[in-house]
Amino acid sequence: MRVIKPNIQRLTDYAVEQGLTRVKLNQNESPFDIPDFLKEQILNRMTVTSWNRYPPGRATALIRAISDYTRFPASGIMVGNGSNEIIQTLIYSTCDTGDQILLVKPSFSIYKRIASIMNIDVMEIPLLKDFQFDIPSLIEAGQNAQILMLSTPNNPTGTTLQPDQVKEIAANVPCLVAVDEAYFEFSQKTVQPFLEGADNMVILRTFSKALRLANLRIGYLLGQPNLVNHLVKCRLPFSIGSFQQIAGEFILKNEDTLIPFIDAIKRERDRIYNELNKMGSIIPIPSEANFILFKILSIYGEDLYNSLYHKGVLIRHFDDSLLENWLRVTIGTPEENNLFLDVLGEVVGEK
Ligand code: PMP
Repeated sequence: MRVIKPNIQRLTDYAVEQGLTRVKLNQNESPFDIPDFLKEQILNRMTVTSWNRYPPGRATALIRAISDYTRFPASGIMVGNGSNEIIQTLIYSTCDTGDQILLVKPSFSIYKRIASIMNIDVMEIPLLKDFQFDIPSLIEAGQNAQILMLSTPNNPTGTTLQPDQVKEIAANVPCLVAVDEAYFEFSQKTVQPFLEGADNMVILRTFSKALRLANLRIGYLLGQPNLVNHLVKCRLPFSIGSFQQIAGEFILKNEDTLIPFIDAIKRERDRIYNELNKMGSIIPIPSEANFILFKILSIYGEDLYNSLYHKGVLIRHFDDSLLENWLRVTIGTPEENNLFLDVLGEVVGEK
């Protein structure tokens, strides 16, 4: 009896260490929780909301707030339960089993995971030296794919395509180009100006990083209304509850409370990069996101990860032979970052 598909039986669980460590720098979340006054406003609104009724299916108020924040027309916006749900929706709506998805390697692991659940072929184009994108190879491979998922800044490398490079790729491939701008608020680079009239390009963004709401699961997509109207048909109805919709709306209406924290994270990112760069046995990659990927030359990556973990600092290592000696650290508060740097210095003997 075959109850579960063989490809699912082979798949491992998506498990990320949640961490009981002193410092958690492994999931690219914001280290800053949202202020209490905003939490209160959100909870007050929830109190006068009917919990027995389904939430607004089209999330109109949240979409209006996203439209104001992005200055993009509401008719071209779709929301999802985190951008993960939007990634799933995009792959479901473009690919059948046996079709091909095009990725860069290494990139955000969820793309490949969703493809493998659907038995969709995965074509991966390796990043070049210093984790730069191989544009000609992407264009060539894109001729046979149904969708290209491009994370820029790319997770886990932090390297970024220039918007006109993405435009060039999209203009030269027949497939849908999904530009995952999860870290846009840190890079300030976007292909949004090129969306008008683009019938094979969409942008994905998230509330989980700079917008500080990873717990609540909100993502959104920007695209031409004729594309968005098809994509919404593939989403599960009511996948974003009122709590998410209200919280998302309130955080965007208080946008000014976000900016100082984004600037602080960028400053800390540059400080950590410089500190890592001074260490002889570490090679950091310049990043435009809220994390830094670095190579450790003197010991195994996994050993370094474990040593940091035992000293109370949780960062990320990857189950990927290409990234064996590479680790990714999320930018935390200045105190958390100091602890990370101190402990790292102790372990690699540079303290
Ligand atoms: N895209 C990228 C590139 C990411 O790094 C992440 C989170 N790690 C996501 C999407 C998923 O974000 P969300 O929390 O909105 O599902």
